[in-house]
Amino acid sequence: MRKLAFGYSTRCNIKCEHCVAVQDIPDTRKMDHTRARKIIVEMAQAGVGGISFSAGEPFLYFNEMVDLVKLCSQMGIYTRIVTNSFWARTPESSDNFILKLKENGLCQLRLSYSRWHQKNVNRNNVLNAARSCRKIGLNYFISFVTDFFMEDDPYEQFLRDNDLIFFPEPVIYSGRAASFKPRNILTDYQANCCEMNPYLTPDLDMYACCDAGSHFSKTSFFYLGNLNNNTMEQLFTKTETDRLYGFIRTMGITNIASFLGMKARRIITHSKCGLCQKLFNSPETLARLRAEVSQLEAWSR
Ligand code: SF4
Ligand code: SF4
Repeated sequence: MRKLAFGYSTRCNIKCEHCVAVQDIPDTRKMDHTRARKIIVEMAQAGVGGISFSAGEPFLYFNEMVDLVKLCSQMGIYTRIVTNSFWARTPESSDNFILKLKENGLCQLRLSYSRWHQKNVNRNNVLNAARSCRKIGLNYFISFVTDFFMEDDPYEQFLRDNDLIFFPEPVIYSGRAASFKPRNILTDYQANCCEMNPYLTPDLDMYACCDAGSHFSKTSFFYLGNLNNNTMEQLFTKTETDRLYGFIRTMGITNIASFLGMKARRIITHSKCGLCQKLFNSPETLARLRAEVSQLEAWSR
């Protein structure tokens, strides 16, 4: 199924230190609402079955979001909204927001949570939002962003104490988090395959990766094109037929790094996105991979 992260706006009401969605400059781009509706119709025609509204804070444009969710629902598209829960200040106001989304067909809410988010948003907001979802019957989960330091323990404990559904998610050292000191990692020798959902920006640029993909500025490796010059079908076809993208999905980034000559003991010191950046944001390495793509294909057990 084709899926996409839909960046309706990059505007956010808070400024988390780890945010990958924007660089340090103020970023308040927003898609035209009528254009967004047309794009959703085009997506449905291109076989897109799932949209995640992300990027900045979607609830800043709540009524427009409700309208887009409703349209998706009518077109048979699964919808998720990613939010920092700033709007869930009381159980009552939280119920009202969730009820409206549920009535208009939202399928899932993803609540962002971390020691960085919670400098700006009271953690009880996240609790209110999750409880409203439970009460009203809207699927939810909490995305617990962490760098696995001990200072995150009380944040995790809060989720456990309140019996909330959550999934730890490693910080991506891009965007504002690019200045963080990366933790010492020694991972298992794992494949590091990546599903790579595309991301559409408010300016209608589309990237093959929705996380750190738009930050590979030295190579623009993940850039697919702009919807003003391409159809949705053309851009999806591009991401589905590029051979290197295909190897990231199936072979995994670890095997690509090994093919390039990186020692196994070095490979396990990188996070998945960090390794991806090392390989694909280097013009020299990328040129070599493009030239040797057939040999890479033969690099299999
Ligand atoms: S991480 Fe999310 S909530 Fe925090 S500044 Fe970025 S978009 Fe806003
Ligand atoms: S591993 Fe690469 S393709 Fe996957 S999310 Fe990270 S940067 Fe994107």
